[in-house]
Amino acid sequence: MSKVVIALGGNALGNNLEEQMVAVRSTAKAIIDLIEDGNEVIVSHGNGPQVGMINLAMTELGKNYPKYSLCPMSVCVAMSQGYIGYDLQNALREELLERGINKSVSTIITQVEVDKNDAAFTNPTKPIGGFMTKEEADLMVQKGENVIEDAGRGYRRVVASPKPKSIVEIETIKTLADAGHVVVACGGGGIPVIKNDGKLKGVDAVIDKDFASCELAKELDADCLIILTAVEKAAINYGKENERWLDDVTVEEMQKYVDEGHFAPGSMKPKVEAAIDFAESKEGRVSLITLLEKAKDGIAGKTGTRISK
Ligand code: ADP
Ligand code: MG
Repeated sequence: MSKVVIALGGNALGNNLEEQMVAVRSTAKAIIDLIEDGNEVIVSHGNGPQVGMINLAMTELGKNYPKYSLCPMSVCVAMSQGYIGYDLQNALREELLERGINKSVSTIITQVEVDKNDAAFTNPTKPIGGFMTKEEADLMVQKGENVIEDAGRGYRRVVASPKPKSIVEIETIKTLADAGHVVVACGGGGIPVIKNDGKLKGVDAVIDKDFASCELAKELDADCLIILTAVEKAAINYGKENERWLDDVTVEEMQKYVDEGHFAPGSMKPKVEAAIDFAESKEGRVSLITLLEKAKDGIAGKTGTRISK
């Protein structure tokens, strides 16, 4: 039996409430397939579109009702963990019941410690919210927001994205996973917190879910980190004439491709970096980047980009 941490990307959750209700059903099927095959599964997920939506909603609310003016990004992440976890855990529960598997499912509101001196706080890079046109993006910039062009797909807001240092609720997650429960944790990269005299304080940032999932997999001593996304494999020369999809790659080879700039920052690059980090952290650990629908084939070694030492 393998212990597997699955990091779900945007396409596993959809872009709004309605899409999410539909998307989680096939997501749950893919996850339960892995459990039926005998794997111990811990689920984490992104929250880019969702945290963008919540942040926008709270900001707009504050404009009309001044007493609701401030909702820090850390609280927006907590809200996103709550409602994504709610849909996800119910979809997982239904799928388990349907297949006659007796397992409990729960979502852990997860805080992740970051370094208050992380350079990311002065250089925001993490895309959140939906895609914008150039005109909409210019308006955002005028309002004082940071905006980037995202891998040829349009413009998006960016916020600070510090690196995860440790997972605060790790003992809870471990205990539940060891008891055979299905756990959803580290949603949206976790709620970013800093430690001050032993006390936790939320900070205005969004941790990349790929890095947080890597940290989760390491702290749980998992065998495999699966990063599920919108492409079946990572590619070098992506979108170019000489594009080449990657299958089995060593940590060294993958690092060379990162250094050569083959992976777009904010989308594929953090996945590849997280995958390398996990694979090189201990002998025998394997990272896999593939499509949600290909998770089963990927774990069987039939597809996806697999990174190992
Ligand atoms: P997620 O929501 O799963 O985190 P992202 O949109 O952040 O997904 O990242 C996945 C996307 O990265 C792919 O859909 C693809 O458009 C883009 N991408 C950028 N560079 C590459 C590359 N070298 N190989 C494959 N995909 C890439
Ligand atoms: Mg992403």
